[in-house]
Amino acid sequence: MKNNAVEVWENCLKIIKDNIHYQSYKTWFAPIKPLKLENDVLTIQVPSQFFYEWLEEHYINLLKKTIKKELGSEGRLEYSIIMDNSIDQANPYSIKVPTSNKKAIANPSVQMPIDINRGTSKDIPNPFVIPGLKKIKVNSQLVDSYSFDSFIEGDCNRLARSAGFAVAENPGRTSFNPLLVYSDVGLGKTHLAHAIGVQAKNNFPDKTVLYVTTEQFIAQYIDSVRNNNQNDFVHFYQMIDILIVDDIQFLSGKEKTQDVFFHIFNHLHQNSKQLILTSDKPPVELKGMEPRLLSRFKWGLAADLQQPDLETRIAILQKRLYNDGIEMPQEVVEYIAYNVNTNVRELEGALISILAQASLNRKSITLDLAKKMIDKFVKSTTREISIDYIQKIVSDYFNLSLDAINSKTRKREIVQARQLAMYFAKKHTKASLATIGLHCGNKDHATVLHACRTVNNLVETDKQFRIFVEEIDKKIKM
Ligand code: ADP
Ligand code: MG
Repeated sequence: MKNNAVEVWENCLKIIKDNIHYQSYKTWFAPIKPLKLENDVLTIQVPSQFFYEWLEEHYINLLKKTIKKELGSEGRLEYSIIMDNSIDQANPYSIKVPTSNKKAIANPSVQMPIDINRGTSKDIPNPFVIPGLKKIKVNSQLVDSYSFDSFIEGDCNRLARSAGFAVAENPGRTSFNPLLVYSDVGLGKTHLAHAIGVQAKNNFPDKTVLYVTTEQFIAQYIDSVRNNNQNDFVHFYQMIDILIVDDIQFLSGKEKTQDVFFHIFNHLHQNSKQLILTSDKPPVELKGMEPRLLSRFKWGLAADLQQPDLETRIAILQKRLYNDGIEMPQEVVEYIAYNVNTNVRELEGALISILAQASLNRKSITLDLAKKMIDKFVKSTTREISIDYIQKIVSDYFNLSLDAINSKTRKREIVQARQLAMYFAKKHTKASLATIGLHCGNKDHATVLHACRTVNNLVETDKQFRIFVEEIDKKIKM
């Protein structure tokens, strides 16, 4: 008699392995842990509800057959799901569900500790709503070419992509709410976020989908404060069915905006509306975020995008060429894919510069040309320098916290560090004065301009200060 869960599961795995792709096996079955075997019921532990839903949707027949084969016709399977959306992150708890009984997984309800209507008044008319119309007309700001179809799948993005797809099929009704996609720059967060929105809009034309960058969101909020219509701002966002907010790391240090986003988030989440967020770091590494907001970011699924491997890079290039109707020798495509391996944006940049070079000089695209171009390209592309990165360097240099630089304080040394951050942001990024101000303690463009002048003056008159500036500049360019 078999009474050992591990042994039974190992036998199941052998069968499963033979029946599906190795990659699927690795993704969906390798992380499963057998827990126990009791009365012909095998309990397996899966890492998240997403896993459970995916297994049920795609592998239920295979699982059933396998279990019956191993345990006989009475054999059954139970899942134990590690729930990650409890407020208390230190104690994830698991719930058990028998196979194919989706109703049993009632979402663990979490009490909102605050009154979401606080500070909003119900009698103020909302100018974002056209009277007499129930639905608001919202420009979704989606880019159609950023579709799932043009988003090449690879090991690097499988989880995020399939979770995104599931969300688009079933917005607000999966456990990936919010769905948070994170990665380094240029790996496809914005593309994937749009793809989810575009797909959801196709599936559900009546739903209101909105894509915003966090910068837009912050700017709109600041405007609403200025115009004294914050309630309308909040109401507007609370009416969205599928809200996509790109680059939420920019909320860092912006307490007021975080506060208002927190209320919007709660309202949408409670009403089973879908939130899709992107960020350049996993939630745990986001700095300058209010804990209560951070804990909500962790409720759903956080999935990352990795650097694509060679095959995926080739596929991405081929898709681009195909879509644009351009032919390029395969050896050239492979050469580019092989040599540009930092991120997809640079990969596309390299492709475009080779195409441009060839058409400008009326040369055909040969391996030789590609070699010359790539050589230049790889050498000349430097890492993108962000405002955040500059702030980090400056605050580290003066041993200050990032929050201090972004705070309102007028302490001399902090003001000076803040001015330096603004000065370097102007020097090393393409950001506008207004954007720089926004990121450096919510100042306006005039303050940034003043900061740049002050630094320039000091560099000329103060020797010690000039040394600071030179040293920091070196660190930024390192
Ligand atoms: P991020 O927002 O992470 O900085 P983007 O979404 O802007 O990255 O992606 C950079 C470029 O790379 C875009 O042109 C995008 O279309 C392309 N790209 C990224 N990932 C993929 C992919 N898997 N398939 C096709 N194109 C991709
Ligand atoms: Mg982006």
